[in-house]
Amino acid sequence: MGAKVRIDREACIGCGACIALVPDFFELNSDDGKAQVIEKYRMGGDPASGEAPDKLLNDIKSAAEGCPVGAIKVEE
Ligand code: SF4
Repeated sequence: MGAKVRIDREACIGCGACIALVPDFFELNSDDGKAQVIEKYRMGGDPASGEAPDKLLNDIKSAAEGCPVGAIKVEE
């Protein structure tokens, strides 16, 4: 089972850093300009939560560390 990732979309300021780092997992929501999980990896259709594939986990952790507002949480 992969790690769970949650994005606090209220806190996200749409800087795009996580998307630049892991475009295979994060994308910008074109309506509100905030980060969300790409459809393929969403859990329960919720754009704010997803399951990280092992091959992207390290990059997703780096994105979580690099988020300027700490909006990305990774639970293993
Ligand atoms: Fe939002 Fe953080 Fe991603 Fe920037 S790095 S787009 S603030 S979740």
